[in-house]
Amino acid sequence: MHYNRYIMEVLESFYNEIIGFLGISQAWEILKTGDYSAFTTYDGIVSLIYPIIPLLLILELILGLIYKKPHAKVYKVNFLIYLFNRVVGRFVAIAMTTFLIGALQKYAPFQAGITWYWLIYGYIVWEFGHFIYHYLGHKIRLFWCLHSTHHAPENMNLSVTHAHFFLEAPYADSIRTTVCILAGLKPELLFLIMFIDGTYGAFIHVGENLIKDGRLGFLNNIILTPSHHRVHHARNPLYMDTNFCNLLNIWDKVFGTFQDEQHDIEIQYGITREMDSGNFLDVYFGEIVALAKDVFHAPGFKNKLLYIVMPPGWHHTGHHQTAKIVRTDYFKQQAIKE
Ligand SMILES: [Zn+2]
Ligand SMILES: [Zn+2]
Repeated sequence: MHYNRYIMEVLESFYNEIIGFLGISQAWEILKTGDYSAFTTYDGIVSLIYPIIPLLLILELILGLIYKKPHAKVYKVNFLIYLFNRVVGRFVAIAMTTFLIGALQKYAPFQAGITWYWLIYGYIVWEFGHFIYHYLGHKIRLFWCLHSTHHAPENMNLSVTHAHFFLEAPYADSIRTTVCILAGLKPELLFLIMFIDGTYGAFIHVGENLIKDGRLGFLNNIILTPSHHRVHHARNPLYMDTNFCNLLNIWDKVFGTFQDEQHDIEIQYGITREMDSGNFLDVYFGEIVALAKDVFHAPGFKNKLLYIVMPPGWHHTGHHQTAKIVRTDYFKQQAIKE
């Protein structure tokens, strides 16, 4: 008897987990009430947008199986990461955001309203916060340990959206929330932007199985497209450490980190370190282990400290292999060829 109840509970939580992953719980509640007019409200519209990415992810997986390009390795590791982050990461990030809003709101010089032009202002501010977090994630070795999990996959598909070290969300949200609250965004506006950003930020990981050309036509000239984000995930010398923005790529253009996808350069996904992208432990902790080794072997306290705060590729002997140097060398070679 008890055994049966236990099975029922397991099945029920499994069912809730699937409904949760698909993001259809809200829409499901509205459908059950039979009052479809609720779909025209803000909450109703959001309830319909939530399931888009999970459903696309499944469609992409099916297309992959049909094309016989299942990228099984990527899906497997990202699924494990999803489960792990689901348990730990989310709660820390929510607690951090709530705390920062309470602590910082009184320091904002003014409060932005909830109108379309303040939304644009808010989004530009949010992108600035995102740029800072993401840039530091690539340029400070310690933060790269948190961010590299996201760059480990060697194929692009929507499951890469979930490939994040569990401490990265709290770290990213702390920076982005601080910038936005100090710039006068009300929490409601911040949450609306977080929702748009989360949905679009997932979509830009759409793989070639679902959308072959990620440029999206003329949109490529106006906003950041899947094509730009594919470039960001590439380890080709030309593409390394470019396109840090998410939806509006103004800050990449301002700070000179913008890079378009070149027709004649095929994207190679992944990071430059020798690693096993099918191994959860390597994807998750590999960079931390590599940093610990470098710190351990470095001579003197100063060098040990520099390994932690300098960009990945920095070396105490002076033989640096940072993205900046690799990219500059690439441009020099191209100039010689021409
Ligand atoms: Zn990145
Ligand atoms: Zn990404």
